[in-house]
This record gives sequence, structure tokens and C-alpha cells, in this order.
Amino acid sequence: MSIAIYPGSFDPVTKGHLNIIARAAKSFDKLIVCVMVNSDKHPMFSLEERVDMLRRVTCGMENVEVDFSDSLLAEYAKSRGAGVIVKGLRAMSDFEREFQMAIINHKLNPGLDTMFLTAEHQFMYLSSSMVKEMGHYHVDLSDFLPQEIILDFIARIQERY
Ligand code: ADP
Repeated sequence: MSIAIYPGSFDPVTKGHLNIIARAAKSFDKLIVCVMVNSDKHPMFSLEERVDMLRRVTCGMENVEVDFSDSLLAEYAKSRGAGVIVKGLRAMSDFEREFQMAIINHKLNPGLDTMFLTAEHQFMYLSSSMVKEMGHYHVDLSDFLPQEIILDFIARIQERY
């Protein structure tokens, strides 16, 4: 069985992430979307909230599982029997860091390869941090966020500011 992992912060999941999930899920028997716990970051949504939102937006996708991990990605992949990490590439700015990470992950776990999917043009500019900025200005978020989580996002913005 071919198993791939799509790791990220997903704070929150955007339509750009969802596009990568839907496209990657077609290429593997199973795609595990994994929220990676990163102690350096101060997320807008808790780990449980991010996992819950991802589960809601992927619930129609049969071969997609949502999980979380605070392990090293290369170790987590080994423990799940995954041979591929999927990454989305938006612009050249993503490339250098992702290239470095791919080489390190392969060194740590030689059974692990990284495959890149290019962002579709309408999502090239989209990042979770951009959506958070837009949230302050009450713009229509329906081009950026999956419908199922827009109210969660608006509620969090209102709570905070
Ligand atoms: P962000 O950069 O939005 O905070 P994450 O850290 O959660 O997102 O990123 C997880 C993965 O999703 C990374 O591989 C990232 O390059 C990819 N990704 C994020 N946004 C997009 C997008 N709009 N289109 C394609 N890939 C994306």
C-alpha cells in the first residue's frame, strides 16, 4: 500500500492546502495529513482545533486520514510506514527551505522521498498568515478558506481583537 504524509501547521487549513490534499490523495492509497507540533510557533488555533477543522474539511475523502505528531517527521513517517512526504510549492521563496528539508529527511530516513506539487495559480499567493492578516479587515474569506471553517475563523478573530 502506498502511504504519503502531508505535514504542516494548518493554522488554519486554507483552500490552498485543501487543493494539495485533494490532488495528492489521487496518487496514493492513503494520504495522512499530519499537523506537526512546532514549539517555536504561537498558533492561532490549538492543535485539537486544527485537527478538528482538517477532519471536517476532508470528511468526504475516503483515503485521507488526519493525525498530529510532535516527533521528527522522518521518524513519524517510519512509524506510519510512509515512503513519501508531499509538499506544496507556491513560489521560488518556498523552494530553498523545502529542498534543504527534503535532503535532511532523506538522510534521516533513506526510505523516505519528498514529492512536490506546484500550487495552482489561484492559490499561489495564499498562506495561513496572509489569511490571518486579511481577517482583521473583514474581507470576504470565501476564496481563501474552506466554507466549513469560516465561522470558526471569524469567531477567533473577534475573540482576539
Ligand atoms: P502556511 O505556509 O500557509 O502557514 P503550512 O506551514 O501549514 O502553511 O504548510 C504546509 C504545506 O502546505 C507546505 O508544504 C506549504 O508549502 C504548503 N502550502 C501552503 N499553502 C499553500 C498553497 N496556497 N498552495 C500550495 N501549497 C501550499
